[in-house]
Amino acid sequence: MAVERTLSIIKPDATRRNLTGDINTRFEKAGLRIVAQKRIRLTRAQAEGFYAVHKARPFYGALCDYMTSGPVVVQVLEGEGAIARNREIMGATDPKKAAKGTIRADLGESIEANCVHGSDAPETAAFEIGYMFAGIEITG
Ligand code: GDP
Repeated sequence: MAVERTLSIIKPDATRRNLTGDINTRFEKAGLRIVAQKRIRLTRAQAEGFYAVHKARPFYGALCDYMTSGPVVVQVLEGEGAIARNREIMGATDPKKAAKGTIRADLGESIEANCVHGSDAPETAAFEIGYMFAGIEITG
């Protein structure tokens, strides 16, 4: 399997509950390397641009409100098949439906406040990494 990079976000519900270290430990134990990371507060315009693909969905406005409600930690994770691997570690969108032992099942509060974001395909990973980071900020 090829080495990939994926964009991860530790969302406001998780930073509020001081879960950054717990979540990062899960990534590292699963063989993903954190090759870039920063804690930021997204503006409304930045959140809207990041989630533009969801513009037509009924929860778009609520999602942008939530993602700007507190600080987030944006990260680039690197590893073998990192995009799918991260999605496995995250679990299903709804914590109630996520498999036991996943971040969302163990730590998620709701279908919206579900702790983490992870790119879902190589094209989205490329867009999302470029949206959040300059190349010079990523060190493998
Ligand atoms: P993901 O790829 O598993 O994060 O899921 P999606 O791409 O479908 O949705 C993006 C994000 O929107 C999710 O991680 C949730 O934070 C939020 N979200 C998804 N579905 C719902 C919903 O039905 N209601 C609300 N309020 N938020 C949702």
